[in-house]
Amino acid sequence: MKWKEKRFHSLDYYYKNLFGCKVQKISLDGGMTCPNRDGTLGYGGCIFCSQAGSGDFSTHQCENVTKQIDTAIHNMSPKKVSDGKYIAYFQSYTNTYASFSYLKNLFTEAISHPDIVGISIGTRPDCLPNDVIDMLAGLNRIKPVWVELGLQTIHEETASFIRRGYTLDVYDDALKRLTGAGLHVVTHVIIGLPYESREQMLETVKYVGRSATEGIKLQLLHVIRGTDLEKYMGTFHILDEDEYIDIIISALELLPPEMVIHRLTGDGPADLLIAPLWSLKKRNVLNHINSALKNRDTWQGRAFNQK
Ligand code: SF4
Repeated sequence: MKWKEKRFHSLDYYYKNLFGCKVQKISLDGGMTCPNRDGTLGYGGCIFCSQAGSGDFSTHQCENVTKQIDTAIHNMSPKKVSDGKYIAYFQSYTNTYASFSYLKNLFTEAISHPDIVGISIGTRPDCLPNDVIDMLAGLNRIKPVWVELGLQTIHEETASFIRRGYTLDVYDDALKRLTGAGLHVVTHVIIGLPYESREQMLETVKYVGRSATEGIKLQLLHVIRGTDLEKYMGTFHILDEDEYIDIIISALELLPPEMVIHRLTGDGPADLLIAPLWSLKKRNVLNHINSALKNRDTWQGRAFNQK
């Protein structure tokens, strides 16, 4: 199978299979905040989260979504894919943290744009009431809808330290309701969280691999200037590139082959990134991961086959 030639089920391959061509994601701002920031659960946000709500590359809010999409497509026109297919990605903050009618209008407008072939919604599992899931399931019958859940870790101690604000059973419940409604789910996991061992990171990956989630986003922990995480610098280990690649290879070996790998590293804002600085050379990191995968002689005997 082609994705085995590529060593994993890449997002590019998945999109090409689904849409018949290359597709790009456009980061948009739905104009929402987050219960971890507005005082409902807390004011500081997750310890690693930047002021932009972990959406440092999205366009600025205050514009309607059609205008944001048009602007984003216009701005990327030099590398615009020939078929002009895009996924509207609501990335910043918690994109189901608003009234039902607001969300319905926002997502319906996005999905109705002629250049948009699907929408992807980044959110928290504790912000997904059933009526919103039903509405998203209705849109999913028009064009594909992905819901991206920021799990980050299965370990409650770490979750509490990073101030995630919900427990693992909340993720399990949301995942069950989302997949039960036929929605595509992508789970975000952070590699390198403070005080976690390599084994703990892989336990999280294994857990996600055995869940009903369709895709996973493996992200390297970035220490961003101005976040509370910055204050803990020096108290926890920052992964070097070799350590990170080793964990990523082991993570891929634990995941089922059909699981879509949405990301293998991360995009930290260069001007705000404090550590790890090696991650700024993203292309190099990905090349090193691909080289390591090719050299991995145990690849054919991947652990997931034994579950
Ligand atoms: S839930 Fe997301 S947007 Fe909210 S504080 Fe955490 S990382 Fe930031």
